[in-house]
Amino acid sequence: MSTATLDTRVESFTQAPHQLFIGGRWVDAASGETFITPNPATGEALASIAAGGPEDIDRAVRAARAAFDEGPWGRMTPSERGRVVWKIGDLILEHLEELAQLESLDNGKPLTVARAADVPLAADLFHYMAGWATKLDGSSLSLSVPYAPGVQFHAYTLREPIGVVGQIIPWNFPLLMAAWKLGPALATGNCVILKPAEQTPLSALLLAQLIAEAGVPDGVVNVVTGFGEDAGAPLAAHDMVDKVAFTGSTEVGKLIVQAAIGNLKKVSLELGGKSPNVVFADADPDASVAGAANAIFFNHGQCCVAGSRLFVEESRFDEVVEGVAEIAKSIKVGDGFAEDTQMGPLVSDEQLRRVTGFLDSGRSDGAEVVTGGGQIGDHGYFVEPTVITRTRPEMRIVREEIFGPVVVAEPFQSLDDIAALANDSSYGLGAGVWTRDISKAHAMAKRLRAGTVWINCYNIFDAALPFGGYKQSGWGREMGHEALEAYTEVKAVCAQL
Ligand code: ADP
Repeated sequence: MSTATLDTRVESFTQAPHQLFIGGRWVDAASGETFITPNPATGEALASIAAGGPEDIDRAVRAARAAFDEGPWGRMTPSERGRVVWKIGDLILEHLEELAQLESLDNGKPLTVARAADVPLAADLFHYMAGWATKLDGSSLSLSVPYAPGVQFHAYTLREPIGVVGQIIPWNFPLLMAAWKLGPALATGNCVILKPAEQTPLSALLLAQLIAEAGVPDGVVNVVTGFGEDAGAPLAAHDMVDKVAFTGSTEVGKLIVQAAIGNLKKVSLELGGKSPNVVFADADPDASVAGAANAIFFNHGQCCVAGSRLFVEESRFDEVVEGVAEIAKSIKVGDGFAEDTQMGPLVSDEQLRRVTGFLDSGRSDGAEVVTGGGQIGDHGYFVEPTVITRTRPEMRIVREEIFGPVVVAEPFQSLDDIAALANDSSYGLGAGVWTRDISKAHAMAKRLRAGTVWINCYNIFDAALPFGGYKQSGWGREMGHEALEAYTEVKAVCAQL
């Protein structure tokens, strides 16, 4: 087994103490406190990180406010701003190996995946959003004001940045989530305070360096590392923040909404999921089995859209479950730096305990574990890819988001049955449909209450595809031109001629 060589730049980056990035300067936390981010493959310390708190959030918000109200950012032409955002994408590609290694070390994901997916997708997002900077148009409007007969008006709309935006992101795709948030915010001219997840702060700190190098003026992007309650909560509550954008658990999403009430800041949320993946009997046999496995096991199941509820039409149920179980058994689980690793460790000890807790609950509720079902070894946070059947709809493993490599599989009889079963969830983030019948595919796509429906594919992401949730999976959309709505205000201007 060959193992990737640690890049010397990554080695010195992880060894250096990490500060907060506020107003274009690197500073210690006001409290002077730090915390350790561990390597999930070993549980050992990886890097020392500044533990930001309310005072640091306040400093960062004031820096962003000043940058928005008085700085050069608002005076740049859209073209200049677009070029700066484009440059961030270029710099991400120039630093692809460093970013991929940091992502693998901090999150646990295979380095091969970080190189092929996380980092290029993050660069793409900035490149895609850069083009929108010059296309944030309003429109001219024809008025017919009934109480002003004979009066003529010239009316138009302007699309303007919201202002100071707090962005709180999770640990499953640390760099990519930063890109999804920062790309549209910057392209539309906002100023940002980014709060990375405490489990995975490293790539956001390198990104802050690249953002400064790209020419983003001081104070436009601030990065405050720290814990949710200490740094995230005061950011969501801060009165000088105009909008908060959050990706994470539905539970914390509800806290964000409550925190935002004080000044009624705008809120966008990308939350949990329990996504159905539906295989019809006429689906391509190999592609549907491989697709069902990929839907749940990609990124160790630590995806908010993980296809964690697999529904298979009765006549093919045993064959598909067996096929997915075979793939589960064959997955090479190991250190993310080993070139043959297909699945790394879960991100943290807490996550390991959460996932194994769900496995225990499924067993005690009487579900059948077809393969997997437990922790691997006692070093690092590794868990077996797991397939479970014979569940009942009320079981916790069927209803709640596990956020690990665990799929529950159930048979179904007809299209009507499956539409109801698939939608029987408080979530509505993603869904998959596998069939060779084009009408059935689109009929299902229409009936599924989910923000994304994949047909004969799964986990396909692109900067142009809007992403977000129905029901308790969130508010608003990220990516695509829909993301611009979440970062702009529309101003109506009406002039009497
Ligand atoms: P998970 O449970 O998967 O770790 P969370 O929703 O707890 O997901 O975390 C997502 C992000 O939200 C992280 O950056 C975390 O620090 C932050 N966070 C956690 N609790 C709060 C809170 N009360 N207010 C604001 N942000 C929070």
